[in-house]
Amino acid sequence: MPGRSFRIARIAGIPVGISPWWLIIVALITWSLGDGYFPSVVNNISPALSYTLGFVSALLLFLSILLHEFGHAIVARHHGIEVEEIDLWLLGGVSKMHDEAHDPDDELRYALAGPGVTAIIAIVFGAISLALPASTSSVVRALVDYQLLVNVLILGFNLLPAFPLDGGRVLRSLLWRHNRDLERSTATAASVGRGFGYAMIAIGVLSLFSGYAGGLWLAVIGVFIVVAAGAQAVSAQVQARFAGVPARELMSTPVVSIPLDVSLERAGSDYFLSYRYTAFPVIDVSGHFTGVLALHRLEQVPPYQRATRTVADVADRDPSLAIGEEEDVAALLSRPAFGRVGRAVVVDASGSPVGLLSITDIERVLRAASLSRGSGANGRGAMSPRGPSKVSSG
Ligand SMILES: [Zn+2]
Repeated sequence: MPGRSFRIARIAGIPVGISPWWLIIVALITWSLGDGYFPSVVNNISPALSYTLGFVSALLLFLSILLHEFGHAIVARHHGIEVEEIDLWLLGGVSKMHDEAHDPDDELRYALAGPGVTAIIAIVFGAISLALPASTSSVVRALVDYQLLVNVLILGFNLLPAFPLDGGRVLRSLLWRHNRDLERSTATAASVGRGFGYAMIAIGVLSLFSGYAGGLWLAVIGVFIVVAAGAQAVSAQVQARFAGVPARELMSTPVVSIPLDVSLERAGSDYFLSYRYTAFPVIDVSGHFTGVLALHRLEQVPPYQRATRTVADVADRDPSLAIGEEEDVAALLSRPAFGRVGRAVVVDASGSPVGLLSITDIERVLRAASLSRGSGANGRGAMSPRGPSKVSSG
C-alpha cells in the first residue's frame, strides 16, 4: 500500500526502514506544532524556536513509535518468530515478521508488547511532567506535555479492537484461544476491524463537514483500517489454504540456474533469450542457491554496462528466497522477500535449486480452486499448478 521504504539503520540486528510518507508526516507534524501548538502554550515564542521544537517533537514521536515496534519485535523474536524489518510509515510502524505467531498465547504477548512499551514511555513523560519544578521554562514543559499526550493517544489508538491494530490482535488471540481456529478468529477480528474502520470514516467525514479539520485524519485512519483488515482476512484465507502443501507440489521444473560469475550480457543472451523465463535461480561455484535474478533487474542495468557487470552484482541475494522441497508453501507467503521478488527457489537438502515457485503459480492454484468452489469446499490437499486442479473438498 505505501511506497517502498528505504533502510535507515540496523538496530539489534533488525533493519529499520522508513517510508517516504514518513517524511511528509514529519513535515506536517513540524508545521502543525510550530504553527499552532507551541505558539499557543509558550508566550512570545519566536517562529524559529517554535518550528525547531515542532521538529524535535516529531523526531521524539518517531523514536516512541520505533520503541513501540521494538517491543513487538523483541517479544516475537523471543518466541522464535524472525523479524524481517521494522517499517515506519504513514501512521506509525509495522514489524514485518517471517511468520505468524504459532499459538494464541504467543500472539497475545506479541500484541501487548508494543502497547506495553508505549505505556512505559507515557508513564515516564507523565512522571517527568509531575516532577518538573514550577520554575521550569514553559518551552520544556510544552515539549514534555506533548510527548505525554501523543503517547497516550498512540496507546489508546493501538488498543482499539480494530484488527490489524494491536487491540485487534489481542481480540484475535482471545478468540483463537477459545475456538482454536486461527482462520475463523482472523475473519471475525477483521470484520470487527472493518466495522471500526467504517465508523471512523463516518465520524471523520461528519466532523469534517461540521468544520473540524481533524476529522480528515480520523477518516484516513478509518480507510487504512478497512483496507488493512480486508487484506489480512484474505491473506489468512490464503495461508490456511496452503498450509500443509509442500513447495515441491507447486514448483515449476526443470530449473535452469545461472552461475554468479556470468556477465549480464551472457545472462541476457544465453539464459533469458534462450529459455524465455522471466527469472532464474543464481548458484555459486558448488551449485548451491545464492539468489534470484529477475529480468527486470537485468533491464535496469544500462546496456553498455552489461558486458562488465556480473550476475552477482544485481541478483537478489536474500536467503529467505530459498525454500526446502518439503517446506510449507504457507510459510513462504508470509516472507516479505517473496512478496517483493515474486519468486522463490525450491532447493534440495544440499541447497541446490530443484525448481522455481512464483506468486503466479500460487495465484493459478487459487483461481483454479475458485472454479471448483460452490460445493462448500475449502479444499486443501494435493494441488498442482499444471494440469487440472486437484483441489479436494473437506
Ligand atoms: Zn503495535
